[in-house]
Amino acid sequence: QNISKSFYMGEEELEVLHNVSLTVNTGEFLSILGPSGSGKSTMMNIIGCLDVPTSGKYLLSGNDINELDEIELGFIRNKEIGFVFQSFQLLPRLSALQNVELPLIYAGLSSSDRKQRAAKILDRVGLSDKTRNLPNQLSGGQQQRVAIARALVTEPTILLADEPTGALDQKTGAQVMELFEELNHDGRTIIMITHDTDIARHAQRVVKILDGNLTEQGV
Ligand code: ATP
Ligand code: MG
Repeated sequence: QNISKSFYMGEEELEVLHNVSLTVNTGEFLSILGPSGSGKSTMMNIIGCLDVPTSGKYLLSGNDINELDEIELGFIRNKEIGFVFQSFQLLPRLSALQNVELPLIYAGLSSSDRKQRAAKILDRVGLSDKTRNLPNQLSGGQQQRVAIARALVTEPTILLADEPTGALDQKTGAQVMELFEELNHDGRTIIMITHDTDIARHAQRVVKILDGNLTEQGV
C-alpha cells in the first residue's frame, strides 16, 4: 500500500518506486512487466523481504513487515518465499540433488529426509534422471528447473521469479512457463517479473511498471 523506495547516493535522493499499491491474492499467477530500469527488481526485493520500502505499508500473509525485526523478517522470508533468479545461481560443485537439498539443510532436516524431498521435487520438474548431474552437465532450461525445484523444496506459499526465462531461448523459456502454469494450477502463488510481453502473457494478470509507477492493465 503506497510503497515508495528511494536510494541515496551521498546527498542525492533517487526515488525509484512512487506510491505503488498492489494486492496479490493467494493462488494468483501475476506478472510485473516493465522495461530495464523501471524498478522491477527493486519491487521484487521488497516483495521478497530482501529490502524494505522507504515509505508505505507491506503486508505479507497478514504480517506488517515494518513491525518485524531482521530475524523475524528472515523467518517470514524463508517460510513464505521461494526465489528464482535469471542466472539460476546454482552451486557449481554440487549435483542437482544437492543444490535442491540446500535450503533443507538450513531448515535443519535430516540427510535422508532432505534427499527424499529433493528427489521428489526434482521428479516434479521432470528431472528425475538428472539428479546426479552437476550444473555444467545440464542444459540452461534444466538448470533453471533445478533452480525452480530448489525454490519449491521448502514448500513456500509464493514463488517469486525475476526474469526466469531471461537466460533461455524461446522454446526453453516456453517450457519453463508451462511448468509455472502447472505449479500455479496446483495452487502455488506465482509472481513473475519480466520485460518480455510474450512471457508476461502466461500469467493470469499482468501489471505494468514504468519509471517506478505501476499501472494495472492487460497486455
Ligand atoms: P532490469 O530490467 O534492467 O533488471 P529493473 O526494472 O529491475 O531493470 P531496478 O534494478 O529495480 O530496475 O532499478 C530501478 C532503478 O533504481 C534504476 O535506475 C537503478 O539504477 C536504481 N537502483 C537500483 N538499485 C539501486 C541501489 N542499490 N542504489 C542506487 N540506485 C539503485
Ligand atoms: Mg531487474
